[in-house]
Amino acid sequence: MSAAFVTRFAPSPTGYLHRGHAFSALTAFEAARDAGGRFLLRIEDIDVTRCRPQFEAAIFQDLAWLGLTWEQPVLRQSDHLADYEAALSRLRADGLAYRCFRTRRELSQAAQSAPHGPETAPAGGPLPAEEEALLLQQGKPFAWRLSLAAARDRLGGFDHLTFTETGAGPDGETGEIAVDPWPGGDIVLARKDVGVAYHLAVVVDDARQQISHVVRGEDLFTASHVQRLLQALLDLPTPVYRHHPLLVGPDGKRYAKRDRAQTLREIRQSGVTASDLRRELGFSA
Ligand code: GLU
Repeated sequence: MSAAFVTRFAPSPTGYLHRGHAFSALTAFEAARDAGGRFLLRIEDIDVTRCRPQFEAAIFQDLAWLGLTWEQPVLRQSDHLADYEAALSRLRADGLAYRCFRTRRELSQAAQSAPHGPETAPAGGPLPAEEEALLLQQGKPFAWRLSLAAARDRLGGFDHLTFTETGAGPDGETGEIAVDPWPGGDIVLARKDVGVAYHLAVVVDDARQQISHVVRGEDLFTASHVQRLLQALLDLPTPVYRHHPLLVGPDGKRYAKRDRAQTLREIRQSGVTASDLRRELGFSA
């Protein structure tokens, strides 16, 4: 198979890994192995409010315990903030980004009162220059958002934008997928507090690491729509996407950090071996 197959596992060190992460990492790792390709690890730690060094250290330990190997050096997003800023500057220079001063509460109120569209709701689109100047003068914090309306005008619509899905989205979407970024609204490109945001960092890094196949959970299927759009706006290559079903527990619920799912370290401490867990998750021991 193609040696050009490059995939990645991109956890955020905001907690300890659980079975869902193990499943996702093994899926990507085995996809690379089956294709004779490369497997990379990327630490997505731009959210300084939630990321912790001990969680990053635990990611390396837990994945090594599972039997995974990855290339060095590992890309850590916090080491590359200037690159995300450069991408944002480009979008700003192209008139595709605007400052959003709305607070969380204002955004949720706007979302409730906006029936259907305009598509920028609840972000509201760019402010009139005078209003914006005043808020800047007052030192009000702001996020940068992508203007979907400006992006649509720039690209002459989104109709010609597609990505290839070789797994499936949550509703079984597969094959050539037409991009529809509207449901996500004017996504945040740079957060008020951390100066960058998830989608922008991911597309910059997928390009930098020459990722040919993004293998990840179907919960990120909708993210692929906006990420494909950002690739078009920034002239970046588009990988093939392969979203996998989310692992569910015995209660039928997906594993998630916030549900206090048993962590890989707890599983390990309870005496379960990596082979046991791999087998349980449907991989060869
Ligand atoms: N860092 C993201 C997460 O922890 C995953 C990003 C991706 O795979 O594109 O959910």
